[in-house]
Amino acid sequence: KNTCRGKEVSKSTHIRDVCRKSVAPQEKNKNKRLSCVIKPPEMQPKKGKFAETYRPNQKIYDMIQEFRESLEITPVSSTDQIEPHKICVCVRKRPLNKQEIIRKEIDVVTIPGNGALLVHEPKQKVDLTKYLDNQIFHFDYSFDETATNGLVYNFTAKPLVQSIFEGCMATCFAYGQTGSGKTHTMGGDFTGKQQNSAKGIYALAAQDVFTHLNHRKYAKLDVSAYVSFFEIYNGKVFDLLNNKAKLRVLEDDRQQVQVVGLEEVCVTTTEEVIRMIQTGSACRTSGQTSANANSSRSHAVLQIVLRRNDRATTLHGKFSLVDLAGNERGTDVCSNDRSTLVETAEINRSLLALKECIRSLGKNSEHIPFRMSTLTKVLRDSFIGEKSRTCMIAMVSPGMASCEYTMNTLRYADRCILSFHVLTPFS
Ligand code: ADP
Ligand code: MG
Repeated sequence: KNTCRGKEVSKSTHIRDVCRKSVAPQEKNKNKRLSCVIKPPEMQPKKGKFAETYRPNQKIYDMIQEFRESLEITPVSSTDQIEPHKICVCVRKRPLNKQEIIRKEIDVVTIPGNGALLVHEPKQKVDLTKYLDNQIFHFDYSFDETATNGLVYNFTAKPLVQSIFEGCMATCFAYGQTGSGKTHTMGGDFTGKQQNSAKGIYALAAQDVFTHLNHRKYAKLDVSAYVSFFEIYNGKVFDLLNNKAKLRVLEDDRQQVQVVGLEEVCVTTTEEVIRMIQTGSACRTSGQTSANANSSRSHAVLQIVLRRNDRATTLHGKFSLVDLAGNERGTDVCSNDRSTLVETAEINRSLLALKECIRSLGKNSEHIPFRMSTLTKVLRDSFIGEKSRTCMIAMVSPGMASCEYTMNTLRYADRCILSFHVLTPFS
């Protein structure tokens, strides 16, 4: 079933099998490279065909538009079937923002649907001819710029909420460059400076937790929900629900990892959780990088824990929702400030550790390299055994200026996919 067709493309590199579901198991090296060269000047239309006014890189813009015209687009729809995965890797593209539109920045990312994503990377040959390097990536789901947080939630975190009632340890990560939409997706969309926390994955997950708690099906579980919210900055843990108190991470002789003294609040309504999200978000650490003045250089972790109503408040299930630090590399930070360099090195180390842990989980490996970073240490119980569920949402910015970061993000996400991880649904 071909869902996307590229007419510019030679037969051997035809964009086929855009739908991952139609090719089980996923082939290796599935992410193909499709090049199309700019036509010689006499074959080009005089003016930009798709724009009335001049823009920088008009030729590139025209080529991308022409390429898009040849594609059949089938965006994710709320009626699509949601399959339970042990590891689910998706991608979300944000729309161009106001400044980017004013700058006439070119959108170089296309989401044809069915989990596919295309990057139209402008390149130059040695003889200085410009050409487009069109690269296709496949994920479990791909969300275009029109997708709402609610739609993204339904395909990513929602199935994980159910899993914690079945005793799972679930994690949902928002990964990507600063400014790509991680906090928008997890914490809620911004209207001006105000964040609408009720519309983020954190709050949507909390809401579903309470729906499940009140459901007959889970009444006999006799569990309560608890929330904690903390930040990992430079390898240290700070409690966002307790004035950023610095906490120690300890591992006992049974390899159980504990964040000592972490505030864990018993919650019964979504409104309570939303208030906690707001309080916690307000005190997050942010630094200054060239990418974004309010860039987050820390990982924020919201945990929703189910505990049995027994005397030991035994752990039943846990959902960790993680808004990761920006993945831009040290060279992007235009500062020689030592603390910034240390910060960046620490972020890189933890994101590398995270990828390795997800890969080990995918391989059902005995050895999980969780000790590599504080992030993976505190999430240790989410990486072991049959009861682990992981969802990675890779966020990308659409602009040409972000192309290199976007490629890095997609390569990282691609490395998290090992093989097919569709599970049989819970009965
Ligand atoms: P990050 O947390 O990855 O640094 P943000 O979530 O702060 O990025 O997003 C950067 C800006 O882009 C914010 O102003 C946010 O409102 C906007 N934005 C991000 N994703 C979307 C989206 N899907 N739709 C509309 N605006 C978005
Ligand atoms: Mg952020």
